Amino acid sequence: MTALRPEVADPDREGGPEAPAPASEGTGLVQLHESIATLLASRGQWRQAYQHLRSAFDLVHAGREEQPKVPEQLRREVDRLRREHAEAREQSLRDSLTDSYNRRYLDERLVALVAERGATTGGLAIALIDLDWFKQVNDTFGHLLGDRVLQRVVELLQAELPEHGFCARYGGEEFVIVLPDVDVTSAIQITEAARMRVERHAWASLAPGLRVTVSIGLAYEPPAAETPSRPPVAPEQQLLRADSLLYTAKQSGRNAVAYREGGRVRLAGAASGRRGITEPRVSGY
Ligand code: GH3
Ligand code: MG
Ligand code: MG
Repeated sequence: MTALRPEVADPDREGGPEAPAPASEGTGLVQLHESIATLLASRGQWRQAYQHLRSAFDLVHAGREEQPKVPEQLRREVDRLRREHAEAREQSLRDSLTDSYNRRYLDERLVALVAERGATTGGLAIALIDLDWFKQVNDTFGHLLGDRVLQRVVELLQAELPEHGFCARYGGEEFVIVLPDVDVTSAIQITEAARMRVERHAWASLAPGLRVTVSIGLAYEPPAAETPSRPPVAPEQQLLRADSLLYTAKQSGRNAVAYREGGRVRLAGAASGRRGITEPRVSGY
């Protein structure tokens, strides 16, 4: 990093006397050193981070009238570090098999969404999705094909989500769709449409005889303004509710979206006519 010190790396410097650079350029150099230090520190490269902080400190305290220009090489180094940092962060939030968001992203976003509550007019929908009889898919067609099925399911689930909705892999063959700022009718429609996309997909093109469906538990939390008499439900609690409803969807014949309306559990769309809907394991949801 010492090669980046302005005295050495400034390509514009040709030895002759220079007009003093404006003060803002010197300030810019300090900020660049600080940016690099922050990025390096976030990667645990403490020694290099310290060197850059030291350079920033020296610049601030040197009391020099002449402010050095920000060298091009240093600018490029900062850009490269910023890019790498952004890419590494994006990677850390993705699932490596399906490229959907992962559990870490889900947890971070749910915390942020709770903080934003009150600023939205709609509610928050969380749908927990589980592939039906997926063990049989692996047993019949092999684990590699099972992996391809998971990738395809993610594509189908997130194909037509609204702008702020997203899909994350919850673990194994379970996924979560989060729909912020929606009303309950839209949440049911969007989730049921996702279920149908999976059911109607031409799975036989992956392997003759292959069929894939999903069961979904949809938990909807109305906007805070509509429920002033009780504290908002925490996202973990809402996920538990979704899990309970998923269980109902499984028990009621699979390939269905289960949700709660007016205290009763219902199945969406084509499955709504089914009889014998099992109540969730956890009462009161
Ligand atoms: P149900 O309808 O009740 O959900 O039945 P199921 O067979 O889907 O449920 P079960 O929990 O018995 O099986 C889940 C299977 O998902 C077992 C596991 O091997 C498989 N699975 C989990 N993660 C992966 C993965 O990354 N790739 C593949 N190919 N299979 C996976
Ligand atoms: Mg499962
Ligand atoms: Mg399953």
